[in-house]
Amino acid sequence: MPGFEVFGEEEKKEILEVLDTGVLFRYEFPEQRRGVYKVRTFEENFARYCGVGHAQAVTSGTSALKVALTALGVGPGDEVITQCFTFVATWEAIFDVGAVPVFAEIDDTLNMDPADLEKKITSRTRCIIPVHMLGAQARIREIKAVADKHHIPVLEDTAQAAGGSLDGKRLGSFGACGTFSFDSVKTMTTGEGGMIITDDEQLWRSMSEYHDHGHDHVPNPGTRGGEGRNFIGFNFRMMELQGAIGIAQLAKLDGMISSQKKNKAALKQAIAQIKGVTFRTILDEQGDSATFIGFFLPDAEKARAVNKVLAAGGAGAIAFGSNTWHFYPKWEHLLAGSTLAKSGWPFSGPDGKRRVIYDKDALPASAALMDRLLVYQVPVKLSEQRLAQMVAALDKAAQI
Ligand SMILES: *Cc1c(COP(=O)(O)O)cnc(C)c1O
Repeated sequence: MPGFEVFGEEEKKEILEVLDTGVLFRYEFPEQRRGVYKVRTFEENFARYCGVGHAQAVTSGTSALKVALTALGVGPGDEVITQCFTFVATWEAIFDVGAVPVFAEIDDTLNMDPADLEKKITSRTRCIIPVHMLGAQARIREIKAVADKHHIPVLEDTAQAAGGSLDGKRLGSFGACGTFSFDSVKTMTTGEGGMIITDDEQLWRSMSEYHDHGHDHVPNPGTRGGEGRNFIGFNFRMMELQGAIGIAQLAKLDGMISSQKKNKAALKQAIAQIKGVTFRTILDEQGDSATFIGFFLPDAEKARAVNKVLAAGGAGAIAFGSNTWHFYPKWEHLLAGSTLAKSGWPFSGPDGKRRVIYDKDALPASAALMDRLLVYQVPVKLSEQRLAQMVAALDKAAQI
């Protein structure tokens, strides 16, 4: 999934345009910047690409989640349901706004199971965050239907699926809003950076103001110092250099995805030879961003045996079931309630009483899937030599 594979003259040109003006700040300095507004242009281009009305750039995918949750009005006393297979950032953001994350099972899409989601809804549920993990679609239509029935907004964590879609509609554009990450290993990257997309103008205004200390961004004779404030905010502003790289990377996104699709197809053919293998359910192959390929073995023991052969052949796969950053039972700091706050917040409330306890065995259906799952990251550039090495290892694994 890494956009850094295709850094080139386009990114350099964009960055130099910023350095030539000397303005790194996304707002103000109208004379010096001579019409160069990279972050604003990146937002406009990204919104257009996603087919939505508004995009708000921020400092990271994690801050995108936090800004979105804040703008949706989520806070202490609230519960937010997300899935147990995601990057830790998804639930860190939920805690960071003062709410409590509740974890739903995943299904063979490796994303939120809509039936389990419905079971986890309570009178305190204020937001639902499905994640389009590993580049492909969650069952977003079914999830949205459950959420709508209970009048709960959906925030799509699309950090790993920029450029993905379902039946021609961009991932991230189904819910109230969708968040993206452009960190250094994502499909398109600005080093650090994030974006939130929405069709809801009021929600976008709230995000825009909150992410910039509450500045209302209404032009006035006193310029920025004279702007009003509707509520307290924080600083999650993207800088012009990141916006510049984003413009160049977005222009390459479709090309990266089509290279990944070609590479994924070649790997899939070799993987399919392994006895008993099945593939992760992809709801719409056309809209898969093809950043990863996930496959299941019949049981955990077979998955381990296959991966041993693959590793010996120089083509070991990722076993997310034992990966400490992406799967619930491996988040020991969450399970133990470890925090720097002397009060025990966010696991304990202001009264010192525990607000929430997490049981590592709470999600057996997901654990059963993860145990037999192997995953390859699909590169944009796959040399013939590397592909041959991977195919040779997969052919060996097919013998067992
Ligand atoms: C990368 C990622 C994030 C966080 O993005 P950063 O830009 O690294 O803060 C959030 N959610 C998921 C699913 C991710 O993969």
